[in-house]
Amino acid sequence: MAPVEPLWQLLPYLSPIAGLSLPPLPAPWPRSTADTWATELGVLSPHPPRLITTGRVAVVGTSGSISLWGTTAAAGGALFIGAVAVLLSGLEGPLPAARLGWLAIVALLGGVGGALVDSFLGATVQGIYWCEHDHKETEKRVHTCGERTRLLRGWAWLDNEWVNFICSLAGSIIAFALWRIAGFS
Ligand SMILES: [Zn+2]
Repeated sequence: MAPVEPLWQLLPYLSPIAGLSLPPLPAPWPRSTADTWATELGVLSPHPPRLITTGRVAVVGTSGSISLWGTTAAAGGALFIGAVAVLLSGLEGPLPAARLGWLAIVALLGGVGGALVDSFLGATVQGIYWCEHDHKETEKRVHTCGERTRLLRGWAWLDNEWVNFICSLAGSIIAFALWRIAGFS
């Protein structure tokens, strides 16, 4: 069962839903890591990002905007977690080469797919707020400066926590489906 373990590490949110008891996660997950790398490294992009929905050029940091730079960073983050999963599983015995290859694909597509769902929700229905103090768009009801924000667009209830949950679920479903397609579960 060792080769299945990395998969479970990719599927944190499926465990409570499916009623499965899975091993605790030893590392951050592809989706959240992809998202973090995209956010942190995306701002270094030499070109302004574009909205994932309309393709219009957007201000750096706008929810729902993506750049080639940020998406590449997301892919790097997802692959990094895939590599971590491989290393951890390797401690329990070697994985066949085909499974290693699929694990990389699963981590890459699950991570980047989840990050793109994040951007899509950010561009459409996610609750996006406006801080009057800093004249900045934010995903938080209370900005980092302490000021209470007002709803700019989207659904007020669909906050960052919900979006993160939905994206992790989407990334996990992609990963799970790919793993099934590969015939490993
Ligand atoms: Zn502020």
